[in-house]
Amino acid sequence: MRRLYPGERLALATHNPGKVRELAAMLRPHGVEVLPAGTLGLLEPEENAPDFVGNARLKALAAAQASGLPALADDSGFSAAALGGAPGVLSARWAGPDKDFAAAMERVRREMAGHADRRAWFTCALSLAWPDGTTATFLGRVEGTVAWPPRGDRGFGYDPIFVPLETSATYGEMDPALKHATSHRARAMAQLLLSCFEPAGLPEPPREGE
Ligand code: IMP
Repeated sequence: MRRLYPGERLALATHNPGKVRELAAMLRPHGVEVLPAGTLGLLEPEENAPDFVGNARLKALAAAQASGLPALADDSGFSAAALGGAPGVLSARWAGPDKDFAAAMERVRREMAGHADRRAWFTCALSLAWPDGTTATFLGRVEGTVAWPPRGDRGFGYDPIFVPLETSATYGEMDPALKHATSHRARAMAQLLLSCFEPAGLPEPPREGE
């Protein structure tokens, strides 16, 4: 599989400040220079794929082709079992153009009213694309339950209503370092790092003709 080397530049194909913060923190030890989409003036393509993998791939490809750099995209979302997996790929859209996640969480509460099943999960697809169209995509998922009322302001999006299994804190209350190490995004990132990143500290091999 194609790999990234320490010192290379990597476009981050997201305008979501919460995702930029988490992805940059996870990539920091790996020696790549991270350039968020906002810094590069990249536009957001329409997310019209039916699933997380398809949307992550189309966002990564659009950013790689527009920037001429390898690009990493995240497509992720919150799912409730009682809602048949909704909002899922529509997680951002439930918050509307004003990105009102208090309203999106309230909608989850309203639609779950009367359901005994509190199970929920976050899914994350991370896709790495190169300007020539090569892509590699990985999925991570974390299971938990829905909490109400929302608790904590340390995360973003649906974090205040999600309690991962075997903990009592919501993602909104949890130490960000613990979320970064164990989340759906961390699980997808672990596979991506293993498959596509050379360990920092190794020299880049000579290119053809050198
Ligand atoms: P998209 O991937 O740009 O379609 O947006 C995904 C949406 O899912 C985000 O705007 C958040 O609302 C939600 N989401 C994804 N990951 C997380 C997370 O780690 N915590 C809270 N909400 C998340």
